[in-house]
Amino acid sequence: MGRIVSIGECMGELSETGTPGALSMGFAGDTLNTAYYLRRSLGTDWQVDYLTAIGTDGLSDRMLDFLAAEGIGTDHVRCLSDKTIGLYYITLKDGERSFTYWRNDSAAKRLASDPSLLARALDGADMAYWSGITLAILSNQDRLALIEALSQFAGRGGTVVFDPNLRPRLWDNPETMRGWIHRAAAVSDLCLPSFEDEATWFGDTDPSETIKRYLAEGSQRVVVKNGAADVSFTDGAGQISTCAIPPVERVVDTTAAGDSFNAGFLAAELSGESVREAIAAGARLAGKVIGAKGALVPEATSRA
Ligand code: ADP
Repeated sequence: MGRIVSIGECMGELSETGTPGALSMGFAGDTLNTAYYLRRSLGTDWQVDYLTAIGTDGLSDRMLDFLAAEGIGTDHVRCLSDKTIGLYYITLKDGERSFTYWRNDSAAKRLASDPSLLARALDGADMAYWSGITLAILSNQDRLALIEALSQFAGRGGTVVFDPNLRPRLWDNPETMRGWIHRAAAVSDLCLPSFEDEATWFGDTDPSETIKRYLAEGSQRVVVKNGAADVSFTDGAGQISTCAIPPVERVVDTTAAGDSFNAGFLAAELSGESVREAIAAGARLAGKVIGAKGALVPEATSRA
């Protein structure tokens, strides 16, 4: 059996329902969203684990129950008695969603503070998946510890997949963000950036510049998402190509578009499909996810 470890922060999601005083509660977060869709897209010959840190309170228990109910492995979820999970609240106004976060002191910020737990989680795994958000929430010391753990994992033959997911608000300043993102790319076999973010924060003028930059930083392969536009990618030999994606008739909510694309893409490649087939699978899954409200859409898998 193969095993993937997704590393990052899952938060509680409170959203207005349209009925005054009534909220709905869920769980989401970039790396969790990808783990969720990987679990739904891969067969039972793959185990999908989530590596994070939570508290020991009732709300943290609910998150653990949620992960377990989804079939996501929780053996590497660290439980810290003096912390709890981060939360965000979605306000609905005229159909537009806006977000308020309480995550500055979340347990997940400590997910990499015990290197022996990182090593144990990665031991025997085939793939590790992480993001720029995972890196952003950590202390400098823990960023180095996680990069080191992933570098050793890659050295043993593990595949490291990284979505830069640039969120300048989580970093002290954009320059610091750029520096760490490139250090992360250097230990990652595959980078899955989104062009709009990369153009904004790195000044790339087209997706091939994004690809060349991440290759120059040490990534082996790069696949660049670009909303409704073509996906650009490299093969192992560094050749750059593009692949058109099917139009989505009705875009309802683009939350988790990139996260679900990544899951569909990886699930297809792990099932032996070509890079073009994997891009089509990623786009198919993302298309279903953005056609419905919320980050986690239970009906969506990359299977046709
Ligand atoms: P992110 O959510 O990380 O910003 P993108 O917006 O680039 O990522 O979208 C990721 C993927 O989701 C795209 O490659 C595409 O497959 C799909 N997607 C996003 N927006 C659209 C759209 N308007 N029409 C069709 N597909 C889309």
